Amino acid sequence: MLVDSHCHLNFPDLAARLPEVLANMAGNGVSHALVIGVSRPAFAQVLGLAEAHDNLWATVGVHPDDPEAEEYTQAELEAHAAHPKVVGIGETGLDYHWCKGNLDWQHQRFATHIRAARATGLPLVIHTRESAADTVRLMREEGAECGVMHCFTESWEVAQAALDLGFYISFSGIVTFKSAQALKEVARKVPLDRLLVETDSPYLAPVPHRGKQNEPAFVRHVAEHVAELRGLSFEAVAEATTDNFFRLFSKIPRPA
Ligand SMILES: [Zn+2]
Ligand SMILES: [Zn+2]
Repeated sequence: MLVDSHCHLNFPDLAARLPEVLANMAGNGVSHALVIGVSRPAFAQVLGLAEAHDNLWATVGVHPDDPEAEEYTQAELEAHAAHPKVVGIGETGLDYHWCKGNLDWQHQRFATHIRAARATGLPLVIHTRESAADTVRLMREEGAECGVMHCFTESWEVAQAALDLGFYISFSGIVTFKSAQALKEVARKVPLDRLLVETDSPYLAPVPHRGKQNEPAFVRHVAEHVAELRGLSFEAVAEATTDNFFRLFSKIPRPA
């Protein structure tokens, strides 16, 4: 059994072929997928998917990459978090790749999500791009205490800082890319009990599907690659990452 800890099944390309995408998950032993909220309008779609399918679960948040996005207040995040299928806060974090200039609004948005996560006890799903130092600083300042660094592409030092705060590290298809040698090194070092795998689909399809549309079934290739890097069997990595997923997103009932 395997779990995709981060995907965007509500995005049009995947939503349009949902029955096939779900069948491919089942066919590849991917039992569950976490569908990630990125905006207020998208949340209705994300929640709709989670409500319609036992094995899909939702998070609520506003992505850091859109300065125009309508914010959630902390109280609104907490209210959505009370829904039985909402199991995490995010994705949130910082992104200095897509956004430049005065980014106080991004820091505020991130802080609001961290406060909501603390108030609800739900884990954070954190996105960081070209902003690792500030991301870790805000996590510390705001007392972020549990969650996952999703689609991790940073150095071992950043991984260590997040691990020290109690966070999990999630690897996407990027770790399968030949060019990602430094990241492969990080994937060898993260403790097995803090490791997650994800697709971030429809983006970032792993080798051997690189360049094509990604989907949750392909998380299998991420897990296979991480297993190979660590000299473990695929089954060992599948079991550990699945176990970690249910420990972190503890609102989701563990399948018997
Ligand atoms: Zn992201
Ligand atoms: Zn995402």
